[in-house]
Amino acid sequence: MIEILPLTRREKYLKNGGGTCPACLSTNIECGTGTEMDGTKLYVSVSCNDCDATWDDEYDLAGVANADGFDPDEVAVPAL
Ligand SMILES: [Zn+2]
Repeated sequence: MIEILPLTRREKYLKNGGGTCPACLSTNIECGTGTEMDGTKLYVSVSCNDCDATWDDEYDLAGVANADGFDPDEVAVPAL
């Protein structure tokens, strides 16, 4: 027998691509009264306009984009 575990609110939020409130599932959510960096993490505040829940979206450093002044694919000097 295969048991399917229910998703947590966090898992469902991630599965929905962050498009719905983790508390009430409304799509009437709004990013952004603040951002905070902590090492390789970035936190962006989000709030729900329907149930007033608030949370931070958490992002991990995943790459280098829009490089100017260097080639991100060039071998690092000194080579590591
Ligand atoms: Zn909500």
